[in-house]
Amino acid sequence: MDYPGRNRKIAVIGGGASGMMAAIAAAEQGANVTLFERQARVGRKLAATGNGRCNLSNSHADPSHYHGEDAGFCQAVLEQEGVTQSLARFRDMGLLTTEEEDGRVYPMSDHAGSVVDVLRFSLDALGVEVNCGFPVKSLKKTPQGFILQTDEQQTITERVIVSCGGKAGGKLGGGADGYRLLEGIGHSCTDLHPALVQLRTEGIVTRGLKGVRAQALVYVWRGKHRIAEEQGEVQFTEYGLSGPAIFAVSREAARQPGTTISLDLFPGINADELFTLLKRRTEKRPELTLDDLFTGTVQNRLGRVLVSSAGLSGSMPLSESAGVLRALAERAKEFSFRVVGDLGFDQAQVTSGGIRTREFDPVTLESKLCSGLYACGEVLDVDGDCGGYNLQWAWSSGWVAGKNAAGGGKHAETA
Ligand SMILES: Cc1cc2nc3c(=O)[nH]c(=O)nc-3n(C[C@H](O)[C@H](O)[C@H](O)COP(=O)(O)OP(=O)(O)OC[C@H]3O[C@@H](n4cnc5c(N)ncnc54)[C@H](O)[C@@H]3O)c2cc1C
Repeated sequence: MDYPGRNRKIAVIGGGASGMMAAIAAAEQGANVTLFERQARVGRKLAATGNGRCNLSNSHADPSHYHGEDAGFCQAVLEQEGVTQSLARFRDMGLLTTEEEDGRVYPMSDHAGSVVDVLRFSLDALGVEVNCGFPVKSLKKTPQGFILQTDEQQTITERVIVSCGGKAGGKLGGGADGYRLLEGIGHSCTDLHPALVQLRTEGIVTRGLKGVRAQALVYVWRGKHRIAEEQGEVQFTEYGLSGPAIFAVSREAARQPGTTISLDLFPGINADELFTLLKRRTEKRPELTLDDLFTGTVQNRLGRVLVSSAGLSGSMPLSESAGVLRALAERAKEFSFRVVGDLGFDQAQVTSGGIRTREFDPVTLESKLCSGLYACGEVLDVDGDCGGYNLQWAWSSGWVAGKNAAGGGKHAETA
């Protein structure tokens, strides 16, 4: 069988999720692929995803879960290479997966290392030359082809795929190289912001709650306008708020100053019902104190902080608490924090913003400004919701970029 990309020389810059998938796609088409990875090994960030479990996809992945200046840009890529196709490829590579709540997909091994391993095995089997510890310092297009410069060597190649990722997760390899390399070729970059990130809140209330978790309905307010909401787990930390539900609203909460987060700690019942429930408790257990008012409903420490942050003494007997119960029920339904910022790119899971997608062909991911140049993954201005959507974008866009780089992009022959 003759492959369209037979012997075409392709360089992939970045051996993360999207770069490994792009290299595999191009090599499967018969291309001669060299992958450059800045760090000592490929897939370092991938190995840390999902708290080491790697939430590698989400069965609900469609454009409504993605963001960017042109939020619909991902549609054509996801149509060609969606969840079904990516999971079938992983199965073919030897990875079994399992679907959990909200469509989140994990490796059956529950171990992110398994995902890195099957990708590495495929790179090996397909003869991809993997150069780890080789940061690409510059990229130029010349009449002879693309020239890639590392500290040690210069490589000339027909086509290039930039898959350097974004700024998020700095300690795991996040950085700005991809933006710089693509800007050097003439591309432009949007503003960059951390997304899926923990929030800093004003005051010391959360400090005493460090380590406490709660199921809550999270609202983000700008003045009187509710700008986002999400239900799920919230974790209290010494600096503020974390957890999946906070990550999900972090984009709206941290982007502009002056937002407030309010937590409804009893999403299943309204304030009147909560008041009645608390009142019944005081009648049944009048000998207890306010410190025990919420015991059995939320974690004890959280119950006590709800009381103390309302300026009330925890030692007040429940028999004397009738006058404060309504206020406490309302506080538990609207436990509010002023947002003063986020924890920045180092702690963020993804970068919101990136290289402008309108400068790329949405079907092939080839640059409209420079033929033979492709980009995929987080370096582009596409970021997904929490829940496996970002890795799905990495697989989908990586595959599409790799396949087209090997096969002959729209603009390629006019170079
Ligand atoms: C802690 C954490 C947990 C996460 N958990 C999840 C999750 O469970 N599910 C999910 O969907 N998403 C998760 N994400 C997001 C997801 O990991 C990223 O969106 C995804 O890895 C992006 O893929 P990428 O290939 O674009 O970039 P990366 O995976 O970041 O890969 C880019 C690679 O390029 C290399 N590189 C950079 N510059 C150069 C250069 N000049 N030369 C050579 N190589 C270079 C980097 O070292 C890196 O290895 C998580 C992110 C973090 C930080």
